[in-house]
Amino acid sequence: ATPAGTTTRDAATHCPYCALQCAMTLRQRGQRVEVLPRQFPTNLGGLCQKGWTAAELLDHPERLTTPLLRDTDGQLRPADWDAALDRVAEGIRDVADRHGRDAVAVFGGGGLTNEKAYALGKFARVALGTRHIDYNGRWCMSSAAAAGLRAFGVDRGLPFPVADLGRAQTVLMVGANPAETMPPLMRHLTEQRRRGGRLIVVDPRLTATARQADLHLQPLPGTDLAMANALLHIALTEGLLDRAYVAERTTGFDEVRRTVAGYWPAEVERLSGVPVADLEATVRALAGVDRAVIVTARGAEQHAKGVDTVTAYINLALALGLPGRPGSGYGCLTGQGNGQGGREHGQKADQLPGYRRIDDPVARAHVAGVWGVDPDSLPGPGVPAYQLLDSLGTATGPKAMLVFGSNPVVSAPRAARITSRLRDLDLLVVADFVRSETAELADVVLPVAQWAEEDGTMTNLEGRVLRRRALREPPPGVRTDLDILATLATRLQGRAPSYRFPDSRGPRQTGFPTEPREWFEELRRASAGGPADYAGVSWERIEADTGVFWPCPDPDGPDSPRLFADGFPTPDGRARFRAVTHRPAAEPVCAEYPLHFTTGRVLAQYQSGAQTRRVEALRRAAPGGFVELHPDLADRLGVTEGQPVRVVSRRGELCAPARLSPTIRPDTVFAPFHWPGAARANSVTNDALDPVSGMPEFKICAVRLEPA
Ligand code: SF4
Repeated sequence: ATPAGTTTRDAATHCPYCALQCAMTLRQRGQRVEVLPRQFPTNLGGLCQKGWTAAELLDHPERLTTPLLRDTDGQLRPADWDAALDRVAEGIRDVADRHGRDAVAVFGGGGLTNEKAYALGKFARVALGTRHIDYNGRWCMSSAAAAGLRAFGVDRGLPFPVADLGRAQTVLMVGANPAETMPPLMRHLTEQRRRGGRLIVVDPRLTATARQADLHLQPLPGTDLAMANALLHIALTEGLLDRAYVAERTTGFDEVRRTVAGYWPAEVERLSGVPVADLEATVRALAGVDRAVIVTARGAEQHAKGVDTVTAYINLALALGLPGRPGSGYGCLTGQGNGQGGREHGQKADQLPGYRRIDDPVARAHVAGVWGVDPDSLPGPGVPAYQLLDSLGTATGPKAMLVFGSNPVVSAPRAARITSRLRDLDLLVVADFVRSETAELADVVLPVAQWAEEDGTMTNLEGRVLRRRALREPPPGVRTDLDILATLATRLQGRAPSYRFPDSRGPRQTGFPTEPREWFEELRRASAGGPADYAGVSWERIEADTGVFWPCPDPDGPDSPRLFADGFPTPDGRARFRAVTHRPAAEPVCAEYPLHFTTGRVLAQYQSGAQTRRVEALRRAAPGGFVELHPDLADRLGVTEGQPVRVVSRRGELCAPARLSPTIRPDTVFAPFHWPGAARANSVTNDALDPVSGMPEFKICAVRLEPA
């Protein structure tokens, strides 16, 4: 019961973590903030333990409430905002004067709201005038994004509502583990199986999701592409193709037909370890029903051939006539909270708002018009996230970087090398609400508001634009990211040669407001006419609380929950097949490094763990890193349960207790990537990149394992 005199206040909002964006009500009851689940089409009233405990960080003792400046003795010490922002502005000016505008970089995050992602892109290109901006979403779904764009002409993670999963008769999940990463999504799959549907999961581990599957295919990591080609080979030989669909709605099938003809199922069984009978059962389950869905996630995508792997599954979906058919299709399960919106509004090195290409003259002219700048003054494309980080502090790379909403010291592949690059910078600025591992390296740390303290919009894994609502003001001493960008733009005023600064006499730099809604209105104008068109997504419309699906060009017109029913947004309206071929992992196993290493997540932690590692209940549930290996492998190496082991690759090593599991392949070891220090999985991972998306090969490298 609420004590007499205690006031309560509610905010209907969404979880701060993953892309399912579960709906919740935040209730301020006296000094406490409670989380209550809320009915919504995505989470169906459910939350996972991360969502339930999300409010604990609001008043966390480790929360930053004052800027920190690195002193001459090398220590981070509290400072006032003026001193901190002076240091940032002077540092930027100094670096830009000595090395040019591209010597200053911006690194964003897939958890930032749409408004922040947009503001960050504009800040980089207008206030700083640099081409160097990218974000950690590059490591999330960029391979699926590139493959979707190539095939369909547009990248929207799920081109249909997540509820369609519950109605599909067959769901094939490749490298996805929502039972741990976004548990409420499993409610749709429970419903799917209650209706008699089949769930087929492809994963090298018997994950919590695979345990619920009717069929679990357990391939060698890195062989998903060959499997997809074999599945299409079987569909061809068994006459399961939707020939009318292929003829009328697609192009390029003949080359794919020739390519997959060489993917004999028996050979793919030898390569992947997946029995031919299981491959056949999978194709028949997909082809023999009216409604079938194929989804991929990081397991298929985080490879140096990630784009082609996703393409292979899109080829399969197209050959079976799934995309655009009611209740059917291909989709990607985006991971980060605003992984979708974060890639639409200009945080990506090669994109302008509205999912426009930065090298497209028409797109440049449109966005420059909204920004009030000369199109020729806009920088060109930068480089993808890993290449950007790997160039920091080098002779030709940026010498200063501003980081918003990211913790690359833990989340970057080959993390020791990236950590050293960050140390080489003349100026590292980190905006965060805790002292993340990246903040620990910074020259300036700026304390920022949390999700419950500011309004905004997010775009979830379905392309549904949602309202995030503030429950309360940020604590004293804390500013919003938008406030920081506006203040810095003002202090840097006049530095960018092209910007007209229409109202430069005012105390605030016009063009950099602090109110999220003002940014949102500008974002709508900037996105108008682009592939991700938000022009009709009015603030009032999303206030209605079930959100609005983009594209939505007209405020009075319909939104787009399901895409491709009437064609694809390609020049000829057809989807594009593309022949792709299997190639081995960038780093094959060998005598010195004889095991495959793969990474992933656990239920109680999120991404680099900077937030969830500080939540008591989550820390208790998942207190530290571990190395999962098969008991036969453990026997061979003389390793016992709980014993510390070292996993060593050519790039580094991690040390964590062994966790024995008969459900992992004996040739593969696994570690979650949420922890820093000795257990940091990304000390080991490979920085080989996909040539199209820039996605690193997080999911497979060669290692040896030994008792520590
Ligand atoms: Fe939050 Fe994702 Fe858990 Fe939902 S599934 S409560 S969005 S972390």
